[in-house]
Amino acid sequence: MTNKHCRFCNADLKRTFVDLGRSPLANSLLSAEDIERGEASYPLHAYVCDDCLLVQLQEFERAENIFHDYLYFSSYSQLWLQHCREYAEQMSKRFALNGHSLVVEVASNDGYLLQYFKERGIGALGVEPAANVAKAAKDKGIPTEVAFFGVETAHRLAAAGKSADLIAANNVLAHVPNLHDFVAGFKLLLKPTGTATFEFPHLLCLIEERQFDTIYHEHFSYFSFLVADKIFARHGLRIYDVESLPTHGGSLRLFVCHADAPFARTSGIDDLIAKERSAGLDRIDTYAKFAEAVIDIKCELLDFLIEARRNGKSVVGYGAPAKGNTLLNYCGVGPELVAYTVDVSPHKQGRYLPGVQIPIRAPDHIFKTRPHHVLILPWNIKEEIMERMAAIRQWGGRFVTAIPKLTVLP
Ligand SMILES: [Zn+2]
Repeated sequence: MTNKHCRFCNADLKRTFVDLGRSPLANSLLSAEDIERGEASYPLHAYVCDDCLLVQLQEFERAENIFHDYLYFSSYSQLWLQHCREYAEQMSKRFALNGHSLVVEVASNDGYLLQYFKERGIGALGVEPAANVAKAAKDKGIPTEVAFFGVETAHRLAAAGKSADLIAANNVLAHVPNLHDFVAGFKLLLKPTGTATFEFPHLLCLIEERQFDTIYHEHFSYFSFLVADKIFARHGLRIYDVESLPTHGGSLRLFVCHADAPFARTSGIDDLIAKERSAGLDRIDTYAKFAEAVIDIKCELLDFLIEARRNGKSVVGYGAPAKGNTLLNYCGVGPELVAYTVDVSPHKQGRYLPGVQIPIRAPDHIFKTRPHHVLILPWNIKEEIMERMAAIRQWGGRFVTAIPKLTVLP
């Protein structure tokens, strides 16, 4: 067995955060033909580094293989689009962006965010590794570099005269196997007075709300503020402001500048550091306890599904997010217990969840089969889903969520 090393500080990784067994890649939805062939699965084992406390997975599948034909088109969630519109509005004001400014988004997907800067006449440039998704952005008139972001890409863009007033890195830091190369790229592409913002799910929420299903192979790292601070400092960058956001079950948005840039550090940073310390995020025993909570969730969900089955009550899913695949694969729940799930994305309909092979239908299917329970897999947007599917109550249908504990919603 080879030694595992921390992707930030290179110390040996010995301590388990949580071991979720073997799981297929969470975003590799299956076609009917794929089901005949069998699937690869990989250990889904999160470690915490004893030295720097970074929670992380090892890279089992090359990032290139995970992301080259990605099925997640950001534009399908209305709530997410609203979040992006607000981001564009706030940043344009705060940094007085105009027609001479350049906003770069790293992992720009189908241009879902940059479209709002473009609307305001602000220069926009996307960097996106998945060619099919980048094409959707280009079709909207958003220039997009098809590449992984890192030192090499940043050098190329800088050599072409690009220098960013604002770089947005929303929900990408966690997806990066080579953390040092990625963060070093920001140092190269950012203007001396520019700001980079990073959004990522907050490890504090993951631990406190038992959000273990946000662990999947595509998420290599799980950050507290305390650890993120050390990572940026290592690369000559400095966090000068922070916001807590409700997205993805609780995220942080960091405002990062060059170490010597004239941005004053806000008091919000000290408040957050105090909060993380009082939650024990600076102590290894806090991390060592997490795995027990995850076993409790598995037992609660299985109890519920088995009892529903015994009482002749049907259960179906809503959504086909990566987190649903972690939950269902870890708990061993297949179509015998959750007959099907539904998703608004036409790219997902007609396919199957990996591993557990639960079929994905269009949302209307729920109105045809009238199930007793709808298990909401993307619990982070449950309000939006309950509103959209409110009509299930006409036949007494109830919504259910499994995280942070099994709950049948009123
Ligand atoms: Zn470390």
